[in-house]
Amino acid sequence: MTACLPNSIEVKPVKIVWEQSIYFGNVPVFCSICGRESRPVRSGSNQLLLAVIYDDQGVICGEACSDCVSAGQQVIQSRLQDRIEILREKLADVEAIAQLMQNGIELPSLEQEFRVHRRDG
Ligand SMILES: [Zn+2]
Repeated sequence: MTACLPNSIEVKPVKIVWEQSIYFGNVPVFCSICGRESRPVRSGSNQLLLAVIYDDQGVICGEACSDCVSAGQQVIQSRLQDRIEILREKLADVEAIAQLMQNGIELPSLEQEFRVHRRDG
């Protein structure tokens, strides 16, 4: 929370800037905000542009899709929160199955495997 920081520390916003794609051709990237695949946008001057996200130190920390860029700050922030929730649920599922499998896994018998792969139906 910015309100907790002393006045001497300047809080700079994250910047999203349209820049010429550093990747070759129309290669898709993943949006750091919504997580979906995103392709560069072709500008009026026929350049392939990507929305690059810079942190408060000016270091690149991801890319954004055009949909997220046009959605605006509040929607971006809520999309990030939604995605965190979804990923937390998925993580909990994976942790639960890993926990269950910690005491060993009884795999199908060789006979069963054989039946699965046999072609005579
Ligand atoms: Zn996005």
